[in-house]
Amino acid sequence: MSRVALFACVNYEPEEVRRAVSEALAAIGGLASFVREGQTVLLKPNLLSSKAPELAVTTHPAIVEAVALEAVKLGAKVVIGDSPPYQGQNPRRYESLCQVTGMREVADRVGAEIVSLDHPQREVETGGKLFKKLPVSAAVLDADVVINLPKLKTHGLTGFTGAVKNMFGCVPGLKKSQLHLQAREGREVFSEMLVDVFAACKPTLNVMDAVVAMEGPGPSKGRPKQVGAILASADAVSLDSVARELIGFSLSSIAHIRLAAERGLGEAGLGHIEIVGSDLDTLRVHDFSPSPTIGSGFAGMPAPLYKIVKNQFVPMPRVIADKCVACGDCIKVCAIGAMELVPRHNENSRKIARADLKKCIACYCCDEACAYDAISVRKGWLGESLRRTRR
Ligand code: SF4
Ligand code: SF4
Repeated sequence: MSRVALFACVNYEPEEVRRAVSEALAAIGGLASFVREGQTVLLKPNLLSSKAPELAVTTHPAIVEAVALEAVKLGAKVVIGDSPPYQGQNPRRYESLCQVTGMREVADRVGAEIVSLDHPQREVETGGKLFKKLPVSAAVLDADVVINLPKLKTHGLTGFTGAVKNMFGCVPGLKKSQLHLQAREGREVFSEMLVDVFAACKPTLNVMDAVVAMEGPGPSKGRPKQVGAILASADAVSLDSVARELIGFSLSSIAHIRLAAERGLGEAGLGHIEIVGSDLDTLRVHDFSPSPTIGSGFAGMPAPLYKIVKNQFVPMPRVIADKCVACGDCIKVCAIGAMELVPRHNENSRKIARADLKKCIACYCCDEACAYDAISVRKGWLGESLRRTRR
């Protein structure tokens, strides 16, 4: 039987978060049962992009600080790090991201070091199904204890991002895009790849920020949604399964949680998970909106048919002209070379990004990497019209 601590936490006031985190950790045996004096503890929040905490794109700094303080109290050396799709490559931009997301302030207050999970890196055996070897951040492999701090959000490709998916950030920078490319044949294959990564860098402990989650078009452009909970568990799969139940998502709709459980990496069936703390039913959110890209039914479609319908019916990246500043990040992150900078209509001196939809594999890495919200992931005019009619 796996154990998941579920505690109400109504806001990000430091006192409220510290109480909830401390109660959640105590309910799974206390942090002292995972961390010893002198150990290096790596905290792995979700730092997807350079967004302020209230936008619910990243793990809230109050959660990171509360967990860091507990580890510092035990005499551990705390390190905070992630590998955002593009910003992690460039030290100046990574520092700026850490400032915007509140990580720099937390690190300075608790005496933690900030590291980028981009380099150095090492190849590791995964024991996995799709990838036998994967590049993983050396900081993750060398830490004595890894505490995974996911944010509860929807995701355009997997439907849900939580503890298992957050470990994808341990694969350095643009290597993530290459894995997207290699695992491009639909959601099931992509999910197998995520589980390979998870198997290669399984965290010691997981504490989820589900105080304000993200609903709708996550993981970067959805809406903040009050859920009011903090979850903790040594079993990331169980934690994700309780979180998806909390927001009304079925297990069958989230392939990577199901596949991780099938590989014996954790427990997904609620009948085999002991939930301690608050009552699941009292915290349940009944109107949590899924990602609009989920449920399109294209994942298992034969390739020739998929090519015919994809531009109209598969949600694809479209660049928003008045937001694009031609920074080129989406081009660097696109492993298949489907993004390019082209002259603007009637304006040869100014450029704009454009996705070649014939090449595009709908991985949405460009959307995640764009710091200017200049990419909208949506269907073609026919698909959008039908969607509106059905509503
Ligand atoms: S779409 Fe976004 S990431 Fe791409 S060039 Fe424009 S602003 Fe930069
Ligand atoms: S254009 Fe965007 S969604 Fe398409 S393959 Fe490139 S990164 Fe992925």
